[in-house]
Order: sequence, then structure tokens, then C-alpha cells
Amino acid sequence: MRVLHVVSEVYPLIKTGGLADVAAALPAAQARLGAEARLLVPGYPEVMALAETLAPIAALPEAPGGAAAWLRFGEIEGLGVPAYVIDCPALYAPSGHPYLDEAGIDRPENPLRFGLLGRTGATLGAGLDAGWRPTAVHAHDWQAGLAPLHMALDRAAGIRAEDGGPPAASVITIHNLAYQGLFPAETRALLGLPESVMSVEGAEFHGKFGFLKAGLYHADRITTVSPTYAAEIRTPAEGCGLDGLLDTRAAEGRLVGILNGIDDTVWNPAADAYLPAPYDAADPAPKARSKAALQRRLGLSERADTPLFGIVARANRAKGLDMLLNVLPGLVSRGGQLALLLAGDRDLEQGFREAMTAWPDRVAGQIGYDESLSHLIQAGADCVLVPSRSEPCGLTQMYAMRYGSPPLVRRTGGLADTVVNAEPAAVASGEATGFVFDDPTDAALAGTLAWAMDLHRDADAWARIRQAGMIRDFGWTAPARQYLALYAAARADR
Ligand code: ADP
Repeated sequence: MRVLHVVSEVYPLIKTGGLADVAAALPAAQARLGAEARLLVPGYPEVMALAETLAPIAALPEAPGGAAAWLRFGEIEGLGVPAYVIDCPALYAPSGHPYLDEAGIDRPENPLRFGLLGRTGATLGAGLDAGWRPTAVHAHDWQAGLAPLHMALDRAAGIRAEDGGPPAASVITIHNLAYQGLFPAETRALLGLPESVMSVEGAEFHGKFGFLKAGLYHADRITTVSPTYAAEIRTPAEGCGLDGLLDTRAAEGRLVGILNGIDDTVWNPAADAYLPAPYDAADPAPKARSKAALQRRLGLSERADTPLFGIVARANRAKGLDMLLNVLPGLVSRGGQLALLLAGDRDLEQGFREAMTAWPDRVAGQIGYDESLSHLIQAGADCVLVPSRSEPCGLTQMYAMRYGSPPLVRRTGGLADTVVNAEPAAVASGEATGFVFDDPTDAALAGTLAWAMDLHRDADAWARIRQAGMIRDFGWTAPARQYLALYAAARADR
């Protein structure tokens, strides 16, 4: 099986969220299972800096506006599998955030940047690299959404692979349905696509050109990152306007939820260079040193018995951060501390800045992005907060369990699929791994925080919950296998 992952970010080269973690770990896990997995990524400066030794494969004449573009291929330091890189300075030159400019606004050239990504994924699927043609092209999120569309167009035009073999299967994974890549209708012409694609049976979405919509309509299979989210997105409440299409595709047996795993080589408290001392389920005691280091680094009062909550997230309403801000006074007055690492919506960032000023020894952290602090919070916190209104899968709650910091989460999407609530029977049986609330309200979050703080005083119960999370298997092997079976099924349909 040869799999091409078409993706707009990959850890450690460029990352805005969980997508980059998945793009690093899933192909590597598939390679360990014997598949040939490769990546296709845009040649951002952060990527090109490491791409000097890559071999040129072919010119890419489809680059919009006739820009010079080359496809290169090879091993890149830090990645577990080889990668194709689109070398096109005219499109990918600005460094920094891959989707936003310095003012935090969507980059105007995004449709061109990611139009070329999808186009190139499809062209590789049709055999652009004579030495390696994928059996499956796996597109991730809206940025790769045009790959399945181009593959369908090529197929309809009777374009066969150069070697005459069957066309590659197309799979698209929704990592977050809220981001759809919607652009003005004129985008179609800018991308050189035929008028016919602007229809309900194609890329059209309420008069706009939709990258994700195009991918969802045309892919042989759709996956999303947890079984609960796969069910939620078929409903008007969570379907972001695409529930009708998703429900139809699910009824055809073409939509499934496959839970993400976590990357043991990056997230493992027994071998994490960011922590002051390693620890594991057999000997969790050195975790206390991470707590002290975190309190010291952030200027929180250094007390081992104070319940220390942690949060590492993109700052927005979907992550429930407005609710957290509202309940902070209660958390502080009950004697808790919060270590935070947030970046995102400016008003939420400002709210948390003010909280840090108001209670410097109680609420502290960083507004921004910081890999080392994200690890230290996972290890140093007693409990990691994930109060999301919507959460397709969520990785931070799994990292928290692995690091012995039972997560407090809302019951939605992948949070519902991964965290077992600390009801007394579940604690007694050793199944409970965290704290779960249902209603997306300040009151429900505040009540659950208070309950977790009470339970924190019960050292035996807390240790059981911590232990259950630390020993749970969140590895990538099982999901990687599920994806390989899915590609095979999609191929067999042909
Ligand atoms: P999402 O993909 O919606 O952002 P996930 O929980 O799936 O949420 O993944 C978030 C990933 O991004 C985790 O690896 C988390 O550690 C990381 N992350 C989020 N915000 C920050 C930040 N401010 N600094 C460093 N890492 C962050």
C-alpha cells in the first residue's frame, strides 16, 4: 500500500494545532505497519530551509498565474517519512503562520496556496512521479480539499495513470468541520477549474467556492477524527451547514470516525526533554518536580498541595475559553491555580492577560505559542482543562492522561470518546480517567471544577484516576491499521 498524505502543516516543521501532530504521527505509524507513506506539503520558508538536499521531481505547470513551481522529494530532518515539497516562492514565501498574516487576517493568497496543494496531490495520484504512484491519496482538511475534486475531474476526463493502472483512491479527513475554506465564486476561475464544478454536486456552497465541500462531495471515503464527532456532524447543530451532505455520504457507508492517537516519541513523560525529571505509571512521584518547576517558571506560589489546573489551547469560543474566563474568580477563591498557554482571539487573550495581572500568584502563563511550556503544563498540572463546546477529537486531553494529569472536559466529540468520568463506581473499578460535564454553561463548568478540587484532597481516589489514564493505550497503531483497511476498501469499490 502506497499512501500520499496531502497536508498543510506537519510537526515539527510548521504547526498551528492538532492537524500537524496527526500529519507527523499517522504516516509514521503506517510506515511501521509496512505501508509506504509519504507527505505532500507546501514549501513554506520553514520547510524550504530544511529542503536543500531534496531532489527535483518535476516542474508544476499548473501553478496559478504561471508562477514557477517545482516538486521536490526526499527525506527531511524531523519527519518520520519522506516528503514531496512544492517549491513555489511566489506563493509560499511569507514565513510565520501558514494561514494568517501578521495582523491575524486570512492571507489573501490562501486559495491559490492551497489550490496548488490539492492540484499537486491529484497529479501525484495520477502518476506525476514515475517512480512512485500512490494507491491512495489522503487529503487532510479544507486546505487539501481540492485533491479529491481534481482526481474526480481527471477520472471523468478519462485521464489514466501513465502506467495504465487503476486510479488512486481518494480519502479526506475532517479534522475540524468549522474551517471550510470558503472563498468568493470567482476563485474557481482563478484556479482554472471548469464552470461545472460550481454546482451543488461539487464545490458550490451558498454561492461560494468551498474547498472542503468539494473534497467531501468527491472523495471515495470521508473520515473524521472520532466516532462521536462522526455522528455529531450529521446533525444541524454540529454540521456547519454540511450535515445534509454528510448524512447522505454516511448512509452510503462512506463516512467513518477513526479516533486519533498520540505520538509516543513526542509525548511521553518517561522521555521528555522539557521535564525536570522523567516519570511513568510505575513511578509517578517525580511528576511533583514538574509541578514545582511549572509554578516557579510562571511565578505561581510554590505549593505542592494547591490544585494546579492547566490549559493549552487555541483561544476561541469553540474551546470554551470564554466560559473558563467567567469561572476563574471562583477557581481562585476556592484556592486553585491556573497555568495557561493560549493564543487566538484577541478579546480572549486580553481577558486572560487581565486575569494574570489581577492574581499573579494564582493565574499565570503565556499568551503565545511555546512548545516547551506546553509539555511542562501537561506534566506539571494536576488537572488539564478542555472545556470545549465542540471538539472533533482533541489531543490535549490524551496528552494529559498520558502525563498523569486527569483532564476535565465537556462531553462532546472525541472528548466523550476518550475520557471516563470519575463517578464513584468508575473510580472504584479503575476505569475513571477524568472529569466530564455535559452542559456548555459557566455553571456546569464551575460545578465540575469545584468537584475536581474536592476530589483532589482524596489522595487515593486521585491516584487511581491518574493511574488509569497513564496506562491507557492511545497509540497510533490501531488507528493506522484502520486507515489502511479503509484505503483498501475504497480501492475495492473501483
Ligand atoms: P486543535 O487541533 O483544535 O487546536 P488539539 O487538542 O487536537 O486541538 O491539538 C492541539 C495541539 O496544539 C496540541 O499539540 C497542543 O499542545 C498544541 N497547542 C495548542 N495551543 C498551543 C500553544 N499556545 N502553544 C503550544 N502548543 C499549543
